[in-house]
Amino acid sequence: MKGRIHSLESFGTVDGPGIRYVVFTQGCPMRCQYCHNPDTWEVNAGTWMDSEEILSNYDKNRAFYKNGGITVTGGEPLLQIDFVTDLFEKSKKENIHTCIDTSGITFVQGNSEYLKKLDRLLSVTDLVMLDIKHINMEAHKKLTGHSNERILQFAEYLEKKKIPVWIRHVLVPGITDDPKYLTELGNYIGGLSNLKALDVLPYHNMGKSKYEQLGIDYPLKDLDNCPKEKVVWAKSLILDGIRQKRQKN
Ligand code: SF4
Repeated sequence: MKGRIHSLESFGTVDGPGIRYVVFTQGCPMRCQYCHNPDTWEVNAGTWMDSEEILSNYDKNRAFYKNGGITVTGGEPLLQIDFVTDLFEKSKKENIHTCIDTSGITFVQGNSEYLKKLDRLLSVTDLVMLDIKHINMEAHKKLTGHSNERILQFAEYLEKKKIPVWIRHVLVPGITDDPKYLTELGNYIGGLSNLKALDVLPYHNMGKSKYEQLGIDYPLKDLDNCPKEKVVWAKSLILDGIRQKRQKN
């Protein structure tokens, strides 16, 4: 099966465990203000690629991925759920560790046809990296153009299905660094029994030039990169929130 691909990275080290072959899919319905890949947004762009072709590229460097595997990110990979399922089904036949990095925005609660497809994908998925952009619904809407309702429902569905999850949170000064919401995020994810890791990533403005090239206004153009010390501080608040939640239970 073919999917619309934005790009491929042979030696990814930040998109799941070990060294990974990273597939960036094309198309994303979100509009996160800090997105550094606005060139992945357009759904009708990218290059059509076959899952076999992707796996044969993977095979060329297979020895490097022995503690890693394949990660599909984007854009929003779950916009192309049939393609990712096909790729992962073939990957599992080859014993390759599979990971999806998603915003969770495409989740549709209660739609049996969709959930059947999702279950098929999850049956061949070893790990989901789920980005929670903001725990507060209004702030999430302002930041991404969408409510976080589907994302949180997706997180809870993954827990029900016992799929290991890494939560990712981008720390954007003045936008996602309110201590109240960091603790609240910790309280929320502390309730997820399938939580395996937490990544707090510092905002950086490396995407600025892409916005200029695409002629899109960059809402955060005056914002500086987030200092690393702030990430340590934010992570400790989220971890406190997780502990509080787990002590209560
Ligand atoms: S979900 Fe990811 S790709 Fe989509 S707009 Fe947000 S940061 Fe960019």
